Amino acid sequence: MKITKLDERVHVLDSNTDALSILQDIVESGVQEEAFYICDVGDIVRKHKIFKAAMPRVEPHYAVKCNDSHTVLETLAALGTGFDCASKTEINKVLTLGVNPSRIIFANPAKPMSHIRHAAATGVRLMTFDNESELFKIKDIFPDAKMVIRIRCDATIAQCQLGMKFGCDPVSEAPQLLDLARSLGIDVVGVSFHVGSGCGEPAVFRRAIAASRDIFDYAETLGFNFNLLDLGGGYPGGTGSSIDKIADIINRALEDYFPDPAVNVIAEPGRFYVASAYTLACNIHSIRTVNVSDPVTGNPNKHIMYYINDGVYGSFNCLLYDHQHVVPIPLKINAGAKYYRSSVWGPTCDGLDQVVENHMLPEMKIGDWLIFEDMGAYTLPVASPFNGFPIPKVHVVADQNIWMLLKDMFPLSENHFVIGNTKANLRVGLDTPDGWTMPSLPITIPICNGGKIIEEHILDYVQIGSLN
Ligand SMILES: *Cc1c(COP(=O)(O)O)cnc(C)c1O
Repeated sequence: MKITKLDERVHVLDSNTDALSILQDIVESGVQEEAFYICDVGDIVRKHKIFKAAMPRVEPHYAVKCNDSHTVLETLAALGTGFDCASKTEINKVLTLGVNPSRIIFANPAKPMSHIRHAAATGVRLMTFDNESELFKIKDIFPDAKMVIRIRCDATIAQCQLGMKFGCDPVSEAPQLLDLARSLGIDVVGVSFHVGSGCGEPAVFRRAIAASRDIFDYAETLGFNFNLLDLGGGYPGGTGSSIDKIADIINRALEDYFPDPAVNVIAEPGRFYVASAYTLACNIHSIRTVNVSDPVTGNPNKHIMYYINDGVYGSFNCLLYDHQHVVPIPLKINAGAKYYRSSVWGPTCDGLDQVVENHMLPEMKIGDWLIFEDMGAYTLPVASPFNGFPIPKVHVVADQNIWMLLKDMFPLSENHFVIGNTKANLRVGLDTPDGWTMPSLPITIPICNGGKIIEEHILDYVQIGSLN
């Protein structure tokens, strides 16, 4: 397997290190200034075990749009999940890993023609629809497709609602769509739904599964032979969250409405798999102290504004697009530091670029680091280097057990891993205009470290700015 991105090699941690200690090592190298991520592959593997144990009948098809990094896709392909792709490019990304097209569902109910042709050419036959025009397109350009009707069933509480854009009404629209599919000779094989991303109302899954049963029954009267139920996404994935309640409701509803084991049940989890695997570290590069009058007493209160090197145009686009709420955690608390009301701002010149509005934080200095957990979902794929501030690099780590488990599981291989004591193995990467490069060592770092030559053995996986 070709490795295209060197900085995505998985670093195997020895027994006395973990993701947080690597993050600390990188910071303490003294030359790291850019924001960066640590991605713990073990966290993704654990999520997969949790999903399979909680819902043994459900085959997860990871939603690629949530985080399309090579490491994530390769790890999930190795673990044997399927994939939910929404475009030609996402399909290619997954196929390039060696995944069989039968493991892909093209789960976008409104597809451009060229993307449908591409699915046909590459053998991706399973796809969703929720409107008439999609059926006419399919009849024209991909009559062998296996179609899945997407119905609407919204959770009352969700981080991101999807129902206003996708899903036909199960009662007033689905039967007519199935009639039309029948008359066009199109093969419809099942039902899908998406209750909303970051679902906060587990009971919605029972409503959606019950509605799907009615559509299965109606389809049978038309002579269709439905065999697929697709539960979509919506499962929470942050640190400390649990899918137990949702899994209970799904398992029971499947027993009640779909007892026949011949019906294949799949889901399209995105956030669940990746949210907690990624931790972001940002550096404070500027500080402003202002007085803000207290809303109750009117007295002036000290308020500290911290400017960090990632913001809403970068990773924190999730605040705008994904309605996430992030919590800044100081990597270390300076001795005797007092706590003040504080805000955290991104690096661009846009007033909108605010990461945290109002949070009690111990007083920090320029050069100190703030950590943000649960940053793996709907962050990096959307980030832009607006205003010239780079998108943070990701350093991927795994402990030895995870390495032992994954190293022989296609498409992963021994080549994907860097083994041994991290400090001795890691290198400085130069962020040049052409991208990330690995210089030969030892190198001189004139800007950050006073021209001192840094020896290979004390180097960590750090990134320094371009030298010219
Ligand atoms: C975005 C999306 C998902 C993933 O949703 P999560 O809430 O992240 O699990 C699944 N299916 C479809 C069709 C989507 O658009």
